[in-house]
Amino acid sequence: MHYAVQLPEVVVVPVDGSDTFFPVRRIYCVGRNYLEHIREMKESDERDPPFFFQKPRDAIVLSGQTVPYPPQTEDFQFEVELVIAIGKAGRSVSQERALDHVFGYAVGLDMTRRDRQRESGKNGLPWEIGKSFDASAPCGNLRTVAEVGHLQSGRIAVSVNGQSKQDSVIEKMIWNVPEIVSKLSHAYDLAEGDLIYTGTPAGVAPVFPGDVLRGTVQGLSNLEITIGARS
Ligand code: MN
Repeated sequence: MHYAVQLPEVVVVPVDGSDTFFPVRRIYCVGRNYLEHIREMKESDERDPPFFFQKPRDAIVLSGQTVPYPPQTEDFQFEVELVIAIGKAGRSVSQERALDHVFGYAVGLDMTRRDRQRESGKNGLPWEIGKSFDASAPCGNLRTVAEVGHLQSGRIAVSVNGQSKQDSVIEKMIWNVPEIVSKLSHAYDLAEGDLIYTGTPAGVAPVFPGDVLRGTVQGLSNLEITIGARS
């Protein structure tokens, strides 16, 4: 087959303990999944259900790489999140069967142009400009369920230049992993290669060029990225 223009690059995440790579199909994110973060944002009713949005697949940045400081923001923030990797397609999956569809887990950062996100919310506009942009989805190496089991508890944290910023536990998620996978699969067909960022705890803050971020989830490989110059 001859393509009319350059073929887009395949986006992959390395799988720990193997020589294989996980090919990324779609990136979903959960909003509002930790109570303390809803409270610090002060923008929604605490009883509002969490919801889903997407980032472009080529927004992935791997551990050890640089995230350029994006244009059109003066408030570029991190959100450390547990990432679920889907290994088996499914539609309308029950909570009881949801974990059968999980391939593994990683540490992710939902990078956010917070000023643009707030502005979109205030004006009732879609928030792609604040959430779904180039290099907005750093993702650490995946660990397989066979290796690490299913993550239902454990510490989740991020530091900036060695200073602790977010520090919580994933059992504080309002929706747990089976609930997220099941609910998402009722709205979209899940397929191999899908990643789901599961929401962030409290403690989000701005970062600046030169900052080094280290995201951790107990049992997983650290995700370390550097914020680059303004692009
Ligand atoms: Mn988030």
